[in-house]
Amino acid sequence: MAIRIEKRTTSKLGDVDFDNLVFGKIFSDHMFIADYRDGAWQDARVVPYQNLQMPPANMTLHYAQSIFEGMKAYYQKSGKVCIFRPDDHAQRINESADRMCIPRIDPDLFKKGLFALIDIDREWVPKKEGDSLYIRPFVFATDEHLGLRPSHTYSFMIITTPVSAYYGKGLPAISLMSSGEYVRAGEGGTGEAKAAGNYAASLYPLELAQKEGYDQTLWLDGKEHRYVEECGTMNIFFRFNDELVTPDLDGSILRGLTRDCVMTLAKEWGYTVSERKVPIEEVMEGAKNGTLKEAFGTGTAAIISPVGKIRHDAEVVTVGDGAAGELSQRLFAELSAIRHGGIEDTHNWCALI
Ligand SMILES: *Cc1c(COP(=O)(O)O)cnc(C)c1O
Repeated sequence: MAIRIEKRTTSKLGDVDFDNLVFGKIFSDHMFIADYRDGAWQDARVVPYQNLQMPPANMTLHYAQSIFEGMKAYYQKSGKVCIFRPDDHAQRINESADRMCIPRIDPDLFKKGLFALIDIDREWVPKKEGDSLYIRPFVFATDEHLGLRPSHTYSFMIITTPVSAYYGKGLPAISLMSSGEYVRAGEGGTGEAKAAGNYAASLYPLELAQKEGYDQTLWLDGKEHRYVEECGTMNIFFRFNDELVTPDLDGSILRGLTRDCVMTLAKEWGYTVSERKVPIEEVMEGAKNGTLKEAFGTGTAAIISPVGKIRHDAEVVTVGDGAAGELSQRLFAELSAIRHGGIEDTHNWCALI
């Protein structure tokens, strides 16, 4: 499918303060759109970033038949831009699509649209090491209809926003509070999909954690409220001595690509990497008896987020010395270097344009 291009006449780049970027507030000059109707994706185009018009009965507004991805592009000294793992994001958006009765997007269309957009807005990819262009592909129902059923029409869009390295000096450690009576996802639910509604449902427990002074929610499983699943909108890892453990994908955990990168690198570095159930008692005990050396969240936004403190019920524990551990720092440095072209990309994670 050919992509129609309609460029902005003047760029908004001059208004951007690249030294003070706030996450997700300014958007680059262009966006990608394709529409689904009559059983096919069509009219793929890159156009100026602009508001949408929709009827009040737009189905997404009422029933959240909507999915998204989060990915990044990084500037390399050669002048090329690394788009990180685009094939894997194309595959994952289609897994989310299946679960939400949204028509699949041909991975070729996904990548062509993505590359065309990033190429046109390549000056928006920040040049400072650690900074990046955050990319948000999303698909949503567009039928004007209030009866509950899958929509017949959809839009697939990609927008981008330049983001700053989260950290000035070293990785800051975050604190977690376990989700108590609330859950992010249940067995048979939509936890494995990047579905919009999952995130709305996570806000109230997050607000409770933040009221108690914690940064993020530590999500426990929906059945026994005992096994660790994720933290905030990140996957989670625990290093018990030389074993690196992450919860196994049981259907309610999002299959993070950063999670996959971390498992791959840690195995290459000689760690024993296990995907298995992690009872919260094992974590609390490990923190107290010193076998839990470090814990960290993983996700495209922050890459690696060390966990310094965990509260579960009435108990509060410190992980390691409460600051970023040695493996967290090594993983962060390695992943940054691969993305920015500082070391060889032996896994073929970067698509260079
Ligand atoms: C996106 C996301 C992740 C992390 O996935 P990455 O591919 O590493 O960015 C983890 N958990 C949830 C709930 C997510 O939405």
